[in-house]
Amino acid sequence: MKIAETVAEVDKHLAKSSISPAGFVPTMGALHKGHLSLVAKAVSECPAVTVSIFVNPTQFNDKEDLRNYPRNIEKDTRMLSSVLRENDLVFIPSVSEIYPAEDKRVFSFGTLDRVMEGSHRPGHFNGVAQVVSRLFDIVKPDIAYFGQKDFQQLTIIRDLVRQLNYNIKISSCPIVREADGLAMSSRNQLLDPAIRLNAGVIYRTIYEASALAVDEEPDKIRKYVIDKIDSVPHFTTEYFEIVDDVELKPLSDRKEYRTDRKYYCCIAVRAGKIRLIDNIEIPLL
Ligand code: AMP
Repeated sequence: MKIAETVAEVDKHLAKSSISPAGFVPTMGALHKGHLSLVAKAVSECPAVTVSIFVNPTQFNDKEDLRNYPRNIEKDTRMLSSVLRENDLVFIPSVSEIYPAEDKRVFSFGTLDRVMEGSHRPGHFNGVAQVVSRLFDIVKPDIAYFGQKDFQQLTIIRDLVRQLNYNIKISSCPIVREADGLAMSSRNQLLDPAIRLNAGVIYRTIYEASALAVDEEPDKIRKYVIDKIDSVPHFTTEYFEIVDDVELKPLSDRKEYRTDRKYYCCIAVRAGKIRLIDNIEIPLL
């Protein structure tokens, strides 16, 4: 694989490899098997693949979270070299390469970013839209791969592609989990070991919630989830919502289920100092 650190180097690489479809996997590094599953899918579908590693400051509403975000470029490039081919590209830009001037663009996603992550992390999705659109403009992919782990992000990126008229297919990839069900995340390595031991409770509980969803009212399920997770020392549920996959509208009554939509249980939990998110599709009959 090749490595580029500047936009000029990416341009040069793209000028030499015009084969399509071109696949793109944007990441913030500290890679794990979840990221690698996206890269492997891109490699299996695209003769040319670019993976970016960039910890995007504009999407962090919490500066301490940005400071503590795990970074390990050496390990990342080693992991990528086991999946990428000779002419695939890893793009590792600096902040000034992505933002030569302050990005003042303000995006609007209607109600999509007013719930869940959007309401608990003000400005987060605007930063995501800034970096993803900038990376799309640089890498010019035909297909971009995103994880279902960031369910709300996926919906917002689909909307971004529509708003900005990109001719890019967004491919969604299933959540890769640890043996106890915890969704893999770069932040998992920041978990205190005693807290990590209990972190499987998040998936176990939303799995149960997804099975209850058809027969019980959302409020009752929410109470069940919060009671169960918050009974574990150092775990606090930030939100739990059942939402559809189009409008992300939190369901308040189970009569609202529509047969033409999919529904997901979405959760954010504070586990000690670390914030974790997860989601699961509700199996509707
Ligand atoms: P990040 O580095 O956290 O920005 O993630 C980069 C991409 O990897 C995003 O599209 C994530 O949704 C995806 N991703 C992160 N964790 C997982 C996981 N456990 N399973 C599948 N995809 C993931």
